[in-house]
Amino acid sequence: MSPATDRAAAEALDAADPLGEFRDRFVEPEPGLIYLDGNSLGRLPRATVDRLRRVVEQEWAGGLVRSWHDWIDLPTRVGDLIGEHLVGARPGEVVVSDSTTVNLYKLAHAACAARPGRDVIVTDDDNFPTDRYTLAGLAQARGMTVRVVASDPVTGPDPADLLAALDDRVAVLSLSHVAYRSGALLDLPTITAAAHGVGALMLWDLCHSAGSVPVGLADAGVDLAVGCGYKYLNGGPGAPAFLYVRSDLQPTLRQPIWGWFGQRDQFAMGERYDPEPDVRRFLTGTPAVVGVAALEEGVRVLAEAGLERLRAKGMAMTELARALAEEWLLPLGFELASPVDPAARGSHLTLRHPEAFAISRALIAEADVIGDFRTPDCLRLGPAPISTRFTEVWDALDRLRSLVAAGRHRIHAETSPADRRVT
Ligand SMILES: *Cc1c(COP(=O)(O)O)cnc(C)c1O
Repeated sequence: MSPATDRAAAEALDAADPLGEFRDRFVEPEPGLIYLDGNSLGRLPRATVDRLRRVVEQEWAGGLVRSWHDWIDLPTRVGDLIGEHLVGARPGEVVVSDSTTVNLYKLAHAACAARPGRDVIVTDDDNFPTDRYTLAGLAQARGMTVRVVASDPVTGPDPADLLAALDDRVAVLSLSHVAYRSGALLDLPTITAAAHGVGALMLWDLCHSAGSVPVGLADAGVDLAVGCGYKYLNGGPGAPAFLYVRSDLQPTLRQPIWGWFGQRDQFAMGERYDPEPDVRRFLTGTPAVVGVAALEEGVRVLAEAGLERLRAKGMAMTELARALAEEWLLPLGFELASPVDPAARGSHLTLRHPEAFAISRALIAEADVIGDFRTPDCLRLGPAPISTRFTEVWDALDRLRSLVAAGRHRIHAETSPADRRVT
């Protein structure tokens, strides 16, 4: 086989790619645009366009309130689809609801309430901001403290440091399965067992792993998890999120938002809150039907592709990017900021460079490559396995090296930091 720097190697990988045909399931916005930000906002599946047209024109416009007959089961139906195909949960353990942030709060709150007398929440300092903020707010409201484990920015929290932070004061350990910045993939079964070893509950954030790496929640006996609908799941901007609660815990855990969609026999409009005994007790109010319908289409495409194949391609793609980065980009001042072993990272690859912000802007403006910037100096490349070609990864790295070699990114050095929101 030719070396990675030979484009023929990428062409051969495309030719042999069992997921190659899935590219056509997605809307192609502009020929030539290379999209490596599927881990921030997944592409639009063509099936979603038709589905949304149906939901809006027939179910909403035509059916009006009668359509609730079909809509009412959407959160549990799509939850089961995610549970079965993407996160290894049993039927009735996953439901679609609210945003990741809100679900994290609900489940962390439920976990703390289930461990009265324990006053510590454990997380790590490189966890996603909303996780750190939400846990801090919860701890403050409940008179608890957050014990924050220092994380390596590339490889994540050290297992020994996590173990050292666990004791019988800990109510819940909450971590991201795949780190949003470096892509570091944590050992979910081992860490879950460590939390259980001190009698704590384990709450995983699956935003960067659902749809890209096998999760195996049931096999590992995970207690609680949350995840995102708009990244690898291709549910669209602001898509509803999902939550998982292990079935044997469901009857006893109580979430803090006592909404009517969690109520047993909801339309009896009973006087007191009496939640469903099952996963529906973790719902709050009326689901965002249009968003859940879009999410269902995104998840169906992934289910058809199969997680094993998605994971294999994801590793092969980040390996190609890493090999090219080593040849072409390290000499230009880049450093690898993801784990070297593909089995120790998710489906994105992060490179560090002092001018990463200007480079990420210039990549879009000058080279038609969309990746994204993460503070303080990281360029994230997220080639979603379902919809990205190996030749696109090759071309993106090739464009990146010519851009930086020629210093063409410098004209974007003055871009306002406010533009960071754009991607
Ligand atoms: C994207 C992401 C979120 C997003 O939460 P929202 O409530 O959807 O804004 C949360 N956690 C992690 C780890 C993420 O990557």
